[in-house]
Amino acid sequence: MSVLVYALHYEGDFNKNSLGAVSEGARLAQELGGEAAAVVVGGDDLTDDLCASLGRYGASKVYRVNGPEGLAQPVVDAMAKVIGDNGFRYALFGGGLLGFEIGAGLTARLGAGVTMEVTAVKADDGKLVAERPILQDSAVVDVGYVDEPGIIIGRLNAFDVREAADGASAEVVDVDVQFEAHSTKAVMVQRGEQRGADVNIEDAEILVAGGRGLGKAEGFELCTQLADALGGAVAATRAVVDAGWYPYAAQIGQTGKTVAPKLYLAAGISGAIQHKVGMQASENIVAINKDSNAPIFEFSDLGIVGDLNKILPKLTEAVKAKKG
Ligand SMILES: Cc1cc2nc3c(=O)[nH]c(=O)nc-3n(C[C@H](O)[C@H](O)[C@H](O)COP(=O)(O)OP(=O)(O)OC[C@H]3O[C@@H](n4cnc5c(N)ncnc54)[C@H](O)[C@@H]3O)c2cc1C
Repeated sequence: MSVLVYALHYEGDFNKNSLGAVSEGARLAQELGGEAAAVVVGGDDLTDDLCASLGRYGASKVYRVNGPEGLAQPVVDAMAKVIGDNGFRYALFGGGLLGFEIGAGLTARLGAGVTMEVTAVKADDGKLVAERPILQDSAVVDVGYVDEPGIIIGRLNAFDVREAADGASAEVVDVDVQFEAHSTKAVMVQRGEQRGADVNIEDAEILVAGGRGLGKAEGFELCTQLADALGGAVAATRAVVDAGWYPYAAQIGQTGKTVAPKLYLAAGISGAIQHKVGMQASENIVAINKDSNAPIFEFSDLGIVGDLNKILPKLTEAVKAKKG
């Protein structure tokens, strides 16, 4: 076995970030001439069908561990045991707070090498090399591993979800893990959505993002109307969440979330580097800005120079008309 991936589930589904990591793990394992497997930790909700469904994303085996789900230390115990018993060469995580915590814990437990904030991974001469942006994403370094296992922690949603054409199913293997005493000292008390974020913006395929160009908090109504018409969600820059115009949960960028939707529509956003790093992986970037020299136009697929107060309502109307 070559690559072991952790997959997080919630209410009967794996999240996009985990499925991306499983897909990427499978692709890399194939390049190394091996196979990829996933570790899942949870209770009765981890049914055979749910676990086996990871085969569709390329996992050949799924190690199912009965334990508290959504906490880092029990997963560290589980992955350390699976790696110790089966000799994986790499462990790959999709990023996000939990991925960082588990990856860091596993690194310490195994005395392994780790690379964080990884945006791409390649196989070179039978080994994996992680690409990691540095200096506010102005340069990329290649990081190799001198020893195995190597730990690779991606940026949130950095890896594409790829479904195998044959819809394969994975073999499910139950593993009994003796948790360390310290691993069971924290319990999940409650799980819920962040205040004001009724949509998970990391999983949304369409994002309408608003910046200071909206003029005031009420300006976000224009973004919400367009997002609703498109079936997407609303995102924001740090400038406007700091100003209290929109909830922090929607902030995109260096100190916010990293997203890669199919469409990122930026309205009244200048395109500062700290914002860019959180949305530059979007498939299509459309920017509306009244300043034709705004930096955002340098990395947009389509730029509209004009007043968002006129353009956003017209776009909403047009989308509604098209949808009938
Ligand atoms: C350490 C650090 C971390 C940071 N982290 C983040 C982060 O995670 N995310 C983030 O977003 N920022 C972050 N920032 C802040 C970042 O540097 C910018 O200040 C911020 O992104 C600017 O937000 P904005 O584009 O909404 O506002 P502005 O830069 O003020 O841009 C507003 C834009 O709206 C346009 N505009 C105005 N009126 C209209 C109109 N009527 N129609 C059309 N266009 C109009 C203007 O031409 C302008 O380009 C960080 C900064 C630092 C120092």
